[in-house]
Amino acid sequence: MSIRASVRALARYHFTPRTSSVKLDQNESPFDLPDAVKAAALERLRSTAWQRYPELHPRSLEEALAQRHDWDPDGVVVTNGSNVLLQALVIVAGIGQAVLTVTPTFQVYGMQARLLGAELIELPLDDAFALPVRPLLDAMSGRRGVVFVANPAAPTGNVHPSEALQALLDRAGSDWLVVIDEAYADFAGVDHRDLVARYPQALIVRTLSKAFGLAGARVGYGLMRAELASEVRKGLLPFSLSSLQTAVALAALDHPRYIEERVALARRERDRLVEGLAAVPGVEPFPSRTNFVLFRAPNAERVHRGLLERDVAIRRQDHLPGLEGCLRVTAGAPDETDAFLDAMREVAATEVVGG
Ligand code: PMP
Repeated sequence: MSIRASVRALARYHFTPRTSSVKLDQNESPFDLPDAVKAAALERLRSTAWQRYPELHPRSLEEALAQRHDWDPDGVVVTNGSNVLLQALVIVAGIGQAVLTVTPTFQVYGMQARLLGAELIELPLDDAFALPVRPLLDAMSGRRGVVFVANPAAPTGNVHPSEALQALLDRAGSDWLVVIDEAYADFAGVDHRDLVARYPQALIVRTLSKAFGLAGARVGYGLMRAELASEVRKGLLPFSLSSLQTAVALAALDHPRYIEERVALARRERDRLVEGLAAVPGVEPFPSRTNFVLFRAPNAERVHRGLLERDVAIRRQDHLPGLEGCLRVTAGAPDETDAFLDAMREVAATEVVGG
């Protein structure tokens, strides 16, 4: 096979699709778009000329996002899911240089670095899942490249203090891009636009997959300075965001009220999950500012299987360094929280947890 040896050595993206009725394994919104928003999206799709190529860069969507975030539309880069933007950042700033990140974190940063042949430096979070600021600064010395920090962090669910990010930015100079991946920022109420406005090497990555409930539509975007945006766009394939995706995203952005309600619900259910899990013997939930909860159980494999047998799917995280025994559950609808917690208590009571 003429496949590069470095590609053959790569692990697959870790995911097994599940059909369980209680599906809490992908940090999705438990609800489809509200009917009125879906109708508006369908209306936009109807009036879209499907035979035409989309705009090279979706100006109307850049403007709608710029308005939402009070940002310069020339500094908004929209992509086919935020994963694609993360890849573009490795292409434009990692290849031939370095990708610096922490572990455990969102696996796409490291996977893209390996795939694209960038030097990958992964430094462990400390025991409280805090950023290892000093080692990160040391690793930045004498190198160039791109740093990825998910904030709120995934899959650990905590928020890093702004000072830690600022320390990285102070060191970055013109040698490093600092990417703050805010996929879960709506649930935490955190926002680093102030840092991006102050530091030309900083950028924020966001997605419509979580709080907006549009994971199926695949729309992500970055907020950065216009000069940086025009360089980052060079890392994208032309016309890769379809006019259909743009239409759906515009309809959702036109009706932002539903998002606030959903974020409030996700926070409530997340807090119920933490409280409920803390009451299960042997189980230790970690505090979360996102729409998911990481927890440790004495036997992650058996808990996961016990839940699947009860028609509840969550995600194992125990393969990740530092997350021995850990699993991750998404904050879903209230009845899903109840079903998950009932199943957890049953699994614990049958001594699967303790076994
Ligand atoms: N960043 C983080 C931290 C994530 O957890 C995810 C989704 N799992 C993404 C980015 C990618 O989101 P999407 O490609 O759906 O926009």
